[in-house]
Amino acid sequence: MSGCVFCKIVAGEIPANIVKRADGLLAFEDQHAQAPTHLLVIPTTHVGSLNDAKDAAALGKLLAFARDVAREAGIATKGYRVVLNTNPDGGQTVFHLHLHGPGGRTMKWPPG
Ligand code: 5GP
Ligand code: ZN
Repeated sequence: MSGCVFCKIVAGEIPANIVKRADGLLAFEDQHAQAPTHLLVIPTTHVGSLNDAKDAAALGKLLAFARDVAREAGIATKGYRVVLNTNPDGGQTVFHLHLHGPGGRTMKWPPG
């Protein structure tokens, strides 16, 4: 989708530190990391938010991909968090569906 920053990363129009690619999926480092490791996992086709996601199987693949990326980043055993912000009250600022995968430190609860 034109104007979408994550679609531009998928297209290679904006640089990003890509950590893993899979069929229809991409993982890269968040440019404003909130933890020692902070990865973003996205579908390569544009979906605005969880509210717009029609394909439950694709959501499952996205989640499994986030798990695999966390394992490969070495944060899985100690632990990490998967966050999916949805719409403004949920803290979403980029309207292309994405999972955050922060780890490498102890996460606090409840989130702000
Ligand atoms: P949200 O607030 O929508 O859940 O998260 C969006 C995330 O995308 C933020 O953590 C922000 O730092 C990250 N982000 C925004 N623009 C870019 C970009 O151009 N490159 C990368 N690598 N991350 C970005
Ligand atoms: Zn997009």
